[in-house]
Amino acid sequence: MNDYDVAVVGAGPVGSTFARLAAEKGLSVAIFEKKKEVGIPLQCAGLLGRKIKDVNILPEEVILNEIYGACLYSPSNTMVYMRRKKEPLAYVLDRIAYDKFLSQLAVENGAKLFLNHNITKVDTKNGEIYQGDKKISAEVIVGADGPSSIVSKEFSNKSKFVHAAQYLIDIGENSFDEDYFKVNVNSEISPGFIWTIPLSKSTARVGLFANYDYKNLTGILNKFIETNEKLKNAKILKKYYGKIPLYDSKKKVVKDRTILIGDSASQVKPTTGGGLIIGFKCAKIASEIVYEAIDSNNMNILKNYQKKYKKMYKNELSMQLKVQNTYKSLSNDDLDSVILKMKEKEIGKIVSKYGDLDSQSVIMKEIIKSGLLFSVLPKLLSRTIFGL
Ligand SMILES: Cc1cc2nc3c(=O)[nH]c(=O)nc-3n(C[C@H](O)[C@H](O)[C@H](O)COP(=O)(O)OP(=O)(O)OC[C@H]3O[C@@H](n4cnc5c(N)ncnc54)[C@H](O)[C@@H]3O)c2cc1C
Repeated sequence: MNDYDVAVVGAGPVGSTFARLAAEKGLSVAIFEKKKEVGIPLQCAGLLGRKIKDVNILPEEVILNEIYGACLYSPSNTMVYMRRKKEPLAYVLDRIAYDKFLSQLAVENGAKLFLNHNITKVDTKNGEIYQGDKKISAEVIVGADGPSSIVSKEFSNKSKFVHAAQYLIDIGENSFDEDYFKVNVNSEISPGFIWTIPLSKSTARVGLFANYDYKNLTGILNKFIETNEKLKNAKILKKYYGKIPLYDSKKKVVKDRTILIGDSASQVKPTTGGGLIIGFKCAKIASEIVYEAIDSNNMNILKNYQKKYKKMYKNELSMQLKVQNTYKSLSNDDLDSVILKMKEKEIGKIVSKYGDLDSQSVIMKEIIKSGLLFSVLPKLLSRTIFGL
């Protein structure tokens, strides 16, 4: 007799959401979290597209700010912006409070939460996890243990990730426009970028991800703040660091009676590294398939999770990978001319109309229709072919 139907490793937002959904179906679920307190330390900018409300429960208390528009800055500071008039484009969340809320909700729905439980070993075949010598058995093991997942290591998956650094800053009287988040692009950090996400008129999260170690990221972030007119006298209130997995279409997410969800499965948007909305959607698919597998006592059904997730995201994520690869290949001159053309062709209007932080393929199709790519291609090609 197993200890539980499902043992979830990791009480992050995705693991807790899965646990709640599985418990709601009547499965006995336990979550094992290595930290003594859920959600701490913060490792997130907390920017979630408005679709979050369609994919998970979002209490008003955890929303710190509503975002209506975005400003994109080229390396030489040409700016193109988009804005939604009525409903917010995105929300800025108190991620620590949200993680706690989601784990509490799982518990209220019947899941058991064990804090201070660092899982050190996983037997994918027999459905066993170990906290030191202590063995816990379950019909299904769910790895929701983030970007450095030990469950994923049992799948022989290679975990590829980039580092991210972020500061909480206070600019005092200098005043942010709370309606807009800002993105600065630069070939030095591509495919990453620098974000400035206001929490209030005086405070913001400023951060970046890029293919550097934490020391170099901190150097780039400091330089960005020191040379930015609005930010240069900012007080740095807190510093945060974390890892963002790189999306990998080949990553295996089902092995024997074990599955991966969220960051442990590299379920992140290639363009932005955002993992919450896609992680929540995959947690839902996973909960349905795990229930079916346990109910019919047939673990082969778990393989449908890999198929369903890949099918659902194939087009969107491969489009985002193309965008990311193109972005990576652009020099600062290219980025300047692309953003200048975006401004001339009023791409902001297209993005405002079709804009959605999570389904970027729709925007890309409209941008292609606008002729933007054809207007910048000659420059890009001549640089690539003739080295100009
Ligand atoms: C700086 C930064 C900014 C980001 N900004 C955004 C953003 O604005 N929007 C967005 O959508 N996404 C953002 N992300 C990504 C987002 O934070 C992740 O996609 C999200 O946290 C994934 O949730 P998860 O539950 O899969 O994993 P995690 O949140 O990493 O949770 C994993 C949990 O597992 C626990 N754990 C790990 N190993 C073990 C073990 N061996 N035993 C027991 N427990 C274990 C951990 O302690 C943790 O609680 C950002 C990431 C970073 C680093």
